[in-house]
Amino acid sequence: MKNEDLVETLIRMKYITDERIKNAFLSVDRKYFIPEEYRSKAYYDDPLPIGYNQTISAPSIVATMLELLDIGPEDKILEIGTGSGYNACLLAALGKIVYTIERIPQLREFAKQNMQNCAHRDKIVSLLGDGSEGYVAEAPYDKIIVTCGAPEVPSPLVEQLAVGGRMLIPVGGTFFQELYIVERRDDGIYRKIWGDVAFVPLIGKHGHRWA
Ligand code: SAM
Repeated sequence: MKNEDLVETLIRMKYITDERIKNAFLSVDRKYFIPEEYRSKAYYDDPLPIGYNQTISAPSIVATMLELLDIGPEDKILEIGTGSGYNACLLAALGKIVYTIERIPQLREFAKQNMQNCAHRDKIVSLLGDGSEGYVAEAPYDKIIVTCGAPEVPSPLVEQLAVGGRMLIPVGGTFFQELYIVERRDDGIYRKIWGDVAFVPLIGKHGHRWA
């Protein structure tokens, strides 16, 4: 199998409907983000372990979230949960600049190495820290994507969302959550629920409090 086969499956299953998202997936080969021992499964639609009890998400939910985020080429994006760096590279293929935050130092290093294989790496700023606090230095963001599950929407992330901006965030328990679409408009904050998802927990000041 090759990356093109994965993209074809995602199109056939209607997880990818947008041409720009198709091209982003074609430009970022998932195999570079998978630890050696699982690389033979890189093109399956499955989450895979990346160490430290964390995972790279299944391509179908990655594609779904990117479609829902509706990224424009001028968008400034904040990602919480760098993990393998795969989603950060896809975001960079779609937007102008990506700030991505990871709390586990070894995973940040893993992602930085993986991103060396990414044509869009110059558009990615990799940060270490508690993403539940956002990254106020570069706020506001046009798009915010949280790739771990929070107990509630962290207030700093809402504050750092631009007017006209959109945030995707799984909210709920430590295993299962609902995917929220949060928008800031001129007249306030709006929230929709997309459906059920399963992410590893967001751990931090505005997340789950255990490590
Ligand atoms: N987006 C990733 C990818 O493309 O591989 C997958 C992310 S993985 C499902 C969730 C990540 O969120 C883990 O790497 C975890 O360490 C990280 N995480 C959890 N709490 C965090 C926090 N408060 N700040 C930053 N990262 C956090």
